[in-house]
Amino acid sequence: MPRNGLSLWHARRADRRPLIRGLIVFVVCTALCLPAAALPIGVYRNHENNSGKIALTFDDGPHPRYTGQILDILDEYGVRATFFFVGENVSYYPEAARDVARRGHEIGNHTYTHPSAVKTGEQELRQELQACERIIQSVTDTSPKLFRPPEGSWNERVLAVAREQDYSIILWDIDTLDWAHTPAERISSYVLDNTQGGNIILMHDYQSGGCDTMQALRLFIPELLARGYKFVTVSELLGSQ
Ligand SMILES: [Zn+2]
Repeated sequence: MPRNGLSLWHARRADRRPLIRGLIVFVVCTALCLPAAALPIGVYRNHENNSGKIALTFDDGPHPRYTGQILDILDEYGVRATFFFVGENVSYYPEAARDVARRGHEIGNHTYTHPSAVKTGEQELRQELQACERIIQSVTDTSPKLFRPPEGSWNERVLAVAREQDYSIILWDIDTLDWAHTPAERISSYVLDNTQGGNIILMHDYQSGGCDTMQALRLFIPELLARGYKFVTVSELLGSQ
């Protein structure tokens, strides 16, 4: 009897295998096929269904040397981008900040001192946004309306402060990891493999040590232009400008 019971159990377990396999396939397929979790209004990581447009973004600047070098490359290809400034760096390098505005690029707010937004108190975060906005306005004569929280970390509280200050939160869907000194060829092939239109690409114009960002731009910008993509600012990508 126990033996029969065991056999029965084995038989049942064997019967269940296709079912379990089917279930696993179903779960994996569903996860792969479903769009990424919907973001609340006012938070963007790309622009869905946007044929052929891409937004290049540069964080943490302005930098006294790298920002200008990036601007020269963008000019060379007739490409416009969005720079998320750290207010403190605008105060150190105002001429580089002015140059970004003068050459027709969009400027966004990346806080004044680059703290983690989720670890910063509400009032402090408000002050970070306002101080960065003030210096961007006084130096470049433009008013930022896009906020990129440092490291892309945000929550409902951060969103509430951003909304109150009339900012949209801008994340990204292609992370080049250029800040980690990823080789230019790897950055370029990653961008080329993942661009489909409507993408927001994350790069950095303020880095310590060597910087492969410029070399990577020279590799993937001409290729994406040849494929028919158009580079626009984030506001243009999202259709608000
Ligand atoms: Zn940053």
